[in-house]
Amino acid sequence: MDKEQLRHMSIEEKRAALKQMLLENRDPPKPDSNENVEVVPGLIESRDYEAFCKQKKATNEWGAENLYFHETDGISDHRVSVAGRKVINFSSYNYLGLAGHPSVQRAAKEAIDQYGTSASASRIASGEKPVHRILERALADFMGTEDSVVMVGGFATNESTIGHLMGERDLILYDSYSHESIQRGCRLSGATARAFPHNRWESLERILREERHRYEKALIVIEGVYSMDGDFPDLPEFIKVKKQFQAMLMIDEAHSIGVLGETGRGIGEHFGVDRLDVDIWMGTLSKSLASCGGYIAGTGKWVEYLKYTVPGFVFSVGLPPASAAASEEAIRILASEPVRVSQLRQNSEFFREACRERGWNVGPSRDSAIIPLILGSSATCIRVSTELLDRGILVVPIIHPAVPEDTARLRFFISSNHSEDELKSTVAAIEACL
Ligand code: PMP
Repeated sequence: MDKEQLRHMSIEEKRAALKQMLLENRDPPKPDSNENVEVVPGLIESRDYEAFCKQKKATNEWGAENLYFHETDGISDHRVSVAGRKVINFSSYNYLGLAGHPSVQRAAKEAIDQYGTSASASRIASGEKPVHRILERALADFMGTEDSVVMVGGFATNESTIGHLMGERDLILYDSYSHESIQRGCRLSGATARAFPHNRWESLERILREERHRYEKALIVIEGVYSMDGDFPDLPEFIKVKKQFQAMLMIDEAHSIGVLGETGRGIGEHFGVDRLDVDIWMGTLSKSLASCGGYIAGTGKWVEYLKYTVPGFVFSVGLPPASAAASEEAIRILASEPVRVSQLRQNSEFFREACRERGWNVGPSRDSAIIPLILGSSATCIRVSTELLDRGILVVPIIHPAVPEDTARLRFFISSNHSEDELKSTVAAIEACL
């Protein structure tokens, strides 16, 4: 379809055409394994690249060139600058506003002055700086575990830890809504990996009953808050299942640490579970904890084993000292100012309820700071987010193929720093755009 054709179409026709274009890209044709494979000289000539270009063109036709790599300036807090204009920001997971906190910034700067900008080696081979262990102790104390280990990147923490812990004789069962880093780790491991329906511990139990005896180790992977829907699992039920089948349980707290629980200690605090009932408490430093990196918290034995064996830790540079110091200070503030957590909860409830009262679909989101506004069409999401930006509100559309077309959504990340006025005016602006 060319630009000339587009110009003569009604909005409805354009939407239908975009939907079709997006749907057509769903399953790029794959060669039959028995056929001779067509030899292509490189990426640019490949089907993958062609599919990518088509997808990009489809969204660009809708004036959505700026949908990705949207440049923002200044600190990504409850407000941020876009093209020189301050807008209300719902696109960052700086949940507690700590990524711009003066004392977090100071801690990072002081670490740079003391240690420079890089650890310059793997920690196992003399890249270890005092700030690494100070952060790991602070994390463990905050979580109520014996110890913790931090790695460079939350994604790498999941991928490398799962990929390393499990092997060909093992079974991994992960929630079907799991983050890409978890799914990549499963594939890397070579274990038999199966997704169970979202949050359905009953289905998990059934699979384990039928399959557990065929495998050595079994690992269940769930998340503390799911990043597309803002909902969370019934952790005590998962713990029962894990115990019944002698499986290990890993929980990714990227979006629940600093958010769930009275004092932000995550889903474990929310349900009041014994820390020892979960084998691997994984989390990221990039959301509430104001920095960059990932952690695993658990027993001292677990952590020691991981520190000597996980490839993504052993064969990778130590976390930059400034990142470690920033997170350590963020944890100190979080622990001493739990009011930030209650403010975040209050803001999230206010916004979620305001949406529900108007009959808008916010899916199963509850208690968390992620609120999807499900509009059910990629084209509508792109249009509404563009119009909202014109009105001074930044929110990212999550469209097909990231989610099924009929659940395309605007995803709102709420911050403890959003004011009631900002939340109210956002609701009014959405109302005007729908
Ligand atoms: N786990 C989950 C659930 C995530 O949402 C993300 C990304 N935000 C990651 C892991 C990866 O973390 P990071 O971006 O800090 O690498």
